[in-house]
Amino acid sequence: CGIVGVVGSRNATDILMQGLEKLEYRGYDSAGIFVTTEAGRSKLVKSVGRIADLREKIGIDVAGTAGIGHTRWATHGKPSEDNAHPHTSTSGRFVLVHNGVIENFVELREEYLANDTFKGQTDTEIAIHLIAKFAEEEGLDTLAAFKKALGLIKGSYAFALMDIKNPDVIYVAKNKSPLLIGLGDGYNMVCSDAMAMIRETSEFMEIHDKELVILTKDSVTVTDYAGNVIERPSYTAELDL
Ligand code: GLU
Repeated sequence: CGIVGVVGSRNATDILMQGLEKLEYRGYDSAGIFVTTEAGRSKLVKSVGRIADLREKIGIDVAGTAGIGHTRWATHGKPSEDNAHPHTSTSGRFVLVHNGVIENFVELREEYLANDTFKGQTDTEIAIHLIAKFAEEEGLDTLAAFKKALGLIKGSYAFALMDIKNPDVIYVAKNKSPLLIGLGDGYNMVCSDAMAMIRETSEFMEIHDKELVILTKDSVTVTDYAGNVIERPSYTAELDL
């Protein structure tokens, strides 16, 4: 199970696929990526089985300028395309990848999402429906909707969220699941493991539990869940390939 995301690159699909291949050692049963292009197009591809199968399904027509990818180790819901990440909201506007376990997903579904229809059986789908509900029904902006969902979710998570209305931003949060930022020149990345980014950059930034990161191609903003900005220095890692 692993997460990779990139914003601001001219070959996002390639970076995501290379990243997922580097994360294969962590184990997975299915994988998927979501990418957006400058022309406002987007593509979501998922596959049960090997990363090589996913690569074949993606084809070569979308280079992408931003995107998120995921290798899944199923905890809730069988390995299937519907249960594979990225997960989308019913409207299609929000797209999410998640590592970890949302422990109170049954309670959250009953309390907030009793009328929603779900595509699969994962705990993760509850998170994307919550974010969509708070944004689309309550009128919160994406960051506020994400924060409200984070305030309700109990368990472990590394989340990367995209809003296709604003595809130049990746929203990130973590609690008890590994995740760090990779800083590039004109692009930035997020990933479960530095090794999956080392081909692109050797400059990294830690994320601590219960922190939120707003990632654009030329900025990285770390805050706590109350919105207080945290100054976090980056570091250069010398990793042997
Ligand atoms: N709990 C989520 C699922 O079953 C995420 C699993 C993972 O970390 O890959 O889909």
